Amino acid sequence: MSRPCSLCGATSGRRLVEERWPVVGLGEVDLGFRWCDGCGLVRQDPAAPQETLLRYYTLFSNYTNPGRSGRPSPHKQRGMTALVDALASQLPRRGRCLQVGSSDGYTLSRLRDAGWDVHGIDPSPAACDLANRLYGVPTTCCSFETFRTAPGDSFDLVFLSHVLEHLADPAGALARCRRLLGPDGHLFVEVPALVDPDRWPPGYFSLEHLSYFAPETLEGLLRKTGFAVEGGVRVWADAPLYPIMRALCVPATADRPDLAGAARRTLDDCLAYLSRERRQWQRVDRLLARAVPAHTPTLVWGAGIHTSQLLARTGLARRARVEGIVDSDPQKWGQRVGPHPVVSPDRVDYADPRLTIVISTRASEDEVYRTIVERPACKARVVRLYADQGGPGEGVDP
Ligand SMILES: [Zn+2]
Repeated sequence: MSRPCSLCGATSGRRLVEERWPVVGLGEVDLGFRWCDGCGLVRQDPAAPQETLLRYYTLFSNYTNPGRSGRPSPHKQRGMTALVDALASQLPRRGRCLQVGSSDGYTLSRLRDAGWDVHGIDPSPAACDLANRLYGVPTTCCSFETFRTAPGDSFDLVFLSHVLEHLADPAGALARCRRLLGPDGHLFVEVPALVDPDRWPPGYFSLEHLSYFAPETLEGLLRKTGFAVEGGVRVWADAPLYPIMRALCVPATADRPDLAGAARRTLDDCLAYLSRERRQWQRVDRLLARAVPAHTPTLVWGAGIHTSQLLARTGLARRARVEGIVDSDPQKWGQRVGPHPVVSPDRVDYADPRLTIVISTRASEDEVYRTIVERPACKARVVRLYADQGGPGEGVDP
């Protein structure tokens, strides 16, 4: 599905990536990424269809912290304390707060503790259930597009943290936020920042992110949809995981900034990142060609986007006998990634010395590795893709 630039409306620009990914539960998805030569916004184009993405969020909510009984990571908890403190000094008057994309409910629980009357919306039933169960946070389970309020209902703070980049029509969503704000209301937006490409993690251009904003393009979109950014867009280049930026906004007269200067820089940043990522996948492909036998059973551990990319970008499925995908998330059992069925870790015969297990996650590689080798009588051959990238040991075990 081709889509024009949501900031300047251009349909032109440079194609950065175009691939077909097998995605868990969704079959094969055609998607690509395009840099807009008019304004520098990077967008998913062609994009996964909206109904496909909604199905993905509804079925496989990735935001429920399954490994920590639903609790957020320590770095998220620390970050939230700092953010709530900052908002308290900038917005002394508390009132009604709506979070669009309330995920596990943790953010709203902290804002409620700080004095806000909170409500969340999220398309994932699992996330809404968790928000209610863990924190007693009230939510409506729906997409932002289908969220209905009573006539005259308004909010003092609309909160969008890592949401805008997921939306097919971010300009429409911001215009909607503006209509939901009461007099003196504020909009808070936090998104990944397209700056400092050395810090973008593997798989930065991914299924769930439809727009990639630089500070200039985020501010441009906010101004176009009738917001002024108080104090300008603030960038945290050294945030955990990847650079982020934040904007605290008030309603203003819409205008249209000139973005030609910003455009070239975002292209150079994307090209630098993509060339590094391409080399990384070539390294992974060479490692797999060495480590995975052709004629004995192979399982891939992890049914996430890393595996979609692994299957699209390496010759593993062509060369080896991939018999399934293992994932600890029960939501994914019984689904497929391409032709491969997703099974529970308890279904694996770890004692089979002919079995090869390829761990297909970077962030959780060590954790998964320990889970496998600590199984009683484990004889399977375990392939790690990132162990020699700063981690202990060799790339292949045993
Ligand atoms: Zn544009």
